[in-house]
Amino acid sequence: MQSQKGNLIIVSGFSGAGKGTLMKRLIDKYTNSYALSVSATSRKPRPGEEDGREYFFKTKEEFETMISNGELLEHANYVGNYYGTPKEYVFKKMEEGYDVILEIEIQGAMQVKKMYEDALLMFVSTPDAKTLKTRLTGRGTETEDVINSRLKRACEEAEGIEKYDYLIINDDLETAVDTIHAISQNERFRIRNNLKFINNMREELKEFKEEK
Ligand code: ADP
Ligand code: 5GP
Repeated sequence: MQSQKGNLIIVSGFSGAGKGTLMKRLIDKYTNSYALSVSATSRKPRPGEEDGREYFFKTKEEFETMISNGELLEHANYVGNYYGTPKEYVFKKMEEGYDVILEIEIQGAMQVKKMYEDALLMFVSTPDAKTLKTRLTGRGTETEDVINSRLKRACEEAEGIEKYDYLIINDDLETAVDTIHAISQNERFRIRNNLKFINNMREELKEFKEEK
């Protein structure tokens, strides 16, 4: 439990840019600062992925029920599958003082930004397009068709980067992780994120005014 309410941090980026790898390292390195939201999806698990760890894996019908029950903060369709953020965990962890990370694509990011204007938006890219293709292919988890769809989608997503607050270039992993951490930490010093402290200080100072 921490004294200040946590930030809502949105991390988006091209498929294969290294978002998952970055998030894993960030949480391992700075365990007490972050809570990573686990999304629901209708896509099939990749080898090694576990239900409730990488995603809550749902059928299309189950996902649609979550939408109609109002369980999701945002949701979107990405290359043929549903993805969405369960609401409850996000607000609970922010109240507990954690910076909550949503690793989500751009349509969902824009939905959250509309609802929650203090959200901090970061966009992750590889240093160049060739590296993106190499990483996506090298991961070896998608068919050639899916890789091509994701690269086409990257081309569209690149048009939306200006809607984000920060660009994270994932070249050296540790440097990128520390950049994300530095930005998140800076956010904690914003005046608007310290209103509780400020009001408390004001109250305490009033006592000096009242003293003779
Ligand atoms: P995303 O979650 O953005 O789709 P992943 O985290 O799955 O991307 O990373 C895609 C591939 O790139 C993986 O094989 C991963 O090991 C590799 N990768 C991630 N970050 C780096 C990095 N900084 N340098 C080299 N390879 C990386
Ligand atoms: P992947 O299938 O590679 O795990 O994810 C595909 C895309 O879906 C990525 O861009 C990822 O950021 C995005 N994504 C993952 N979870 C969510 C979510 O809850 N909501 C939205 N809108 N996008 C998500």
